[in-house]
Amino acid sequence: MRNYSQVLDRMQGAVDRSRRSLEEVTLIAVTKTHPPETVEEALRSGIIHIGENKVQEALAKKFVIGEKGIWHLIGHLQSNKVKKAVEIFDRIDSVDSIDLAAEISKRCEPIGKKMRVLMEVNVSGEGSKFGVKPEKALELAEQMNAQSNLEITGLMTMAPFFQEVERTRPYFSRLRELRDDIQTRTGIQLPDLSMGMSHDFEIAIEEGSTLIRVGTALFGSRPKPLETSI
Ligand SMILES: *Cc1c(COP(=O)(O)O)cnc(C)c1O
Repeated sequence: MRNYSQVLDRMQGAVDRSRRSLEEVTLIAVTKTHPPETVEEALRSGIIHIGENKVQEALAKKFVIGEKGIWHLIGHLQSNKVKKAVEIFDRIDSVDSIDLAAEISKRCEPIGKKMRVLMEVNVSGEGSKFGVKPEKALELAEQMNAQSNLEITGLMTMAPFFQEVERTRPYFSRLRELRDDIQTRTGIQLPDLSMGMSHDFEIAIEEGSTLIRVGTALFGSRPKPLETSI
């Protein structure tokens, strides 16, 4: 993982520019499509948070690695996979409907787990992206907060891809403002903002991100998933 120090340098630059400190920003190493050895390498280098976007894939890696690290589900979750997902993930960062929130809470109950979750918001309005619409976010936050086996701690989003990375800034500031608004109006504490990927995390940090999700910048480009992927 020769790129770790480069990522840390970029993070440091962004926190310096925004008068924040490195301790305020958690790095999630996104290991999707990479083998278990990549996850182990990341954990050995001191990275604690691992991001995966598929339940089966994460399960296969955890089988090899065992109980190490804090695992985040960062991809879309189908209801028929919730039961497995709540067993293997420590956080679910992509909850975007009340049905999904209720199902997660229900499946956590018998195993005595309270799942920490983020609400995914589609701030760009792009049809290809998951996430609740910003105008529905307050209502969903209240519904999620009412689930007994969920703890909502913040919001997550993906900005559109722009060659000119500065253009992502309004999407990140919009998520922060939405969080501030929901927090003020509901009293629900939402300290977490998961925003920023390899290409745009510096802008996201400058706009208040507390969790960045970084794959390519740490591990290089991803192998193409197999056609028959699980
Ligand atoms: C793949 C993925 C990432 C990481 O993307 P990179 O550009 O490789 O850093 C971050 N967030 C989500 C939701 C992803 O699916």
